[in-house]
Amino acid sequence: MYSQLTSTDMMKKYHNLGTPANLRSLNKLHSLPWRNLQATSDPAIEGITGERFADETLLRNSACSGCPVGCIHIGFVREKFMADNRYLYRQVAYDYEPIFSTGTMLGITDSFSVLTIMDEMEKTGLDVMSGGVALAWATEATQQGLLTERETMVALQFGNAEAYRQAAFYLGTGANEFYRLLGQGSLKAAAHYGGADFACVLGQEMAGYATGEVFFAAQSLSFRHSHLDCGGYAYDQQHEEQNVEDAVDFLIEDEVARLALNCMVSCLFARGVYTPELLARCLHSVGYAGLAANLDAAARHVQQLRWQTRFATGYDMDAVTIPKRFFKVKTWKGAIDPQYLHNLRQSYAGRIAALGRREK
Ligand code: SF4
Repeated sequence: MYSQLTSTDMMKKYHNLGTPANLRSLNKLHSLPWRNLQATSDPAIEGITGERFADETLLRNSACSGCPVGCIHIGFVREKFMADNRYLYRQVAYDYEPIFSTGTMLGITDSFSVLTIMDEMEKTGLDVMSGGVALAWATEATQQGLLTERETMVALQFGNAEAYRQAAFYLGTGANEFYRLLGQGSLKAAAHYGGADFACVLGQEMAGYATGEVFFAAQSLSFRHSHLDCGGYAYDQQHEEQNVEDAVDFLIEDEVARLALNCMVSCLFARGVYTPELLARCLHSVGYAGLAANLDAAARHVQQLRWQTRFATGYDMDAVTIPKRFFKVKTWKGAIDPQYLHNLRQSYAGRIAALGRREK
């Protein structure tokens, strides 16, 4: 396992540019959300590609405890203290998702500006993905006259990095009634001020994949940050044809494979290395022969348990609707097909409900 991780190309991309390498490729595929998902591609990507971050802002790589890959990329931002002309530099870990939410989603195309907004969010303890997507909604609500500076306390405008740095602080500290509402989610604020149609929320604020119907169905019904729980984004990128049964089978089976890895407390980036056969050999070698022989059944049992737990703790699938903005998205496959999306959600919801049903 160690030699596959360190002396093959399997993990190279994670160490080199890291997940920010996805920015250029998703932009090329017309699957990268820009300016509150008003577009899915823009030539301005050149300012914030994985290469640009590595060339301009990268200080060093780091790793989770014991990992020989070292995919964590740590960049820097400089701050000047005007009072005594001193400079300070701060280290900010960056990744694809935070760059999407504080970069393309806000129309920011300068790598240092992206890190500065990210840093502000980290300091106030915000979820960077949700924070950026929520500020993108607030910006479009401002454009449409639903919000004014009285609520936002700063003039929000796509591309205005300093305004977003301040807004991130206001959002993270709940500076006024508006920001306290927005801190509970874009839809909560939209219920009060209007603008639910263009809230980029799929259950919670979207992850950075405007890849198509399968991902939208998956994130709206599956678990938080479901790009880690199921690979709907990858399915969209590889399948032009529409086949509800195949797509939903993929979502369910892919979740099982990821759960087996979750239970091993392993890194999902290395899922190509941790094949079921290799995992079984590893388990066998440390005395878990029974589990090694029944890994698939164990993972399916865990899948059932977690859906059962989710329903038992109040999850209501019917409460999650898809805002109109998602139906206006155009990807490399063309416009979103509302009927296909509806069919996927219906079928996936049925399978999830079956998993969550408790045996009497
Ligand atoms: S464990 Fe995974 S996330 Fe952590 S450094 Fe290694 S490859 Fe990266």
